[in-house]
Amino acid sequence: MEGAGIKYFLLQILKTFFPPACPLCSCTFPKNYSAPFCESCLAGFNPLPEAKCPRCSLPFSGISNSSHLCGRCIKQPPAYTRVYAVGFYDQSLRHAIHQFKFNGKVGLDWSLGTLLEQAIDSDLNIDLVVPVPLQRNRLQQRSYNQALLLARKVARIRKWPVVNDLLLKIRETESQQGLSAKERVKNLQGSFTLQKTISEQKILLIDDVMTTGATVAACSRVLIEGGAAQVYVAVIGRAA
Ligand SMILES: [Zn+2]
Ligand SMILES: [Zn+2]
Repeated sequence: MEGAGIKYFLLQILKTFFPPACPLCSCTFPKNYSAPFCESCLAGFNPLPEAKCPRCSLPFSGISNSSHLCGRCIKQPPAYTRVYAVGFYDQSLRHAIHQFKFNGKVGLDWSLGTLLEQAIDSDLNIDLVVPVPLQRNRLQQRSYNQALLLARKVARIRKWPVVNDLLLKIRETESQQGLSAKERVKNLQGSFTLQKTISEQKILLIDDVMTTGATVAACSRVLIEGGAAQVYVAVIGRAA
């Protein structure tokens, strides 16, 4: 048997004993199924509506016209150009992110990263992919930065370079949970810095979830002030 034939043969044996399964609900995939999740899990992911802020992707309810900016982006335009999101941070997508982030299901990075890449305009050109950094004590607790795993997947598919040590979280901050939008901005002030010089690059900033957007806004500001030409943001879940 030729090398390629042996490889195919072994792959078939492997598939017989370990048939490909959905990384979220563990159901067995039908034959020749190639989507990152099963149909039922995918159906539970709610895409953002057409009507949303063109800048921060905040979904608008009850309006079909999506050409205007949301109130917050008009009042205080963010440093980033626009936000791409896989869907609403609710139901199955929220469950998937929680499994990935807190339950050690690191293997979800491939499936979630694949969906994230599909959410980004196919003609977008990027010079650097940068994950939102975790602060050191969280990294020690969790042992991995979920944003970096997602960044690596997207970057591998698009053949973009990832720079993990460009942004650094310098100040330990309280958890953002339970804080108002204003408090979140204040909590993050001066907490990120640049570790390397950049000039005129187009950057894709990656995080798992965007709620009020205070974190990605703070990171984008540091990148633009440091010399980036443009910052795009991509997240898995966007809170309404
Ligand atoms: Zn499933
Ligand atoms: Zn907005």
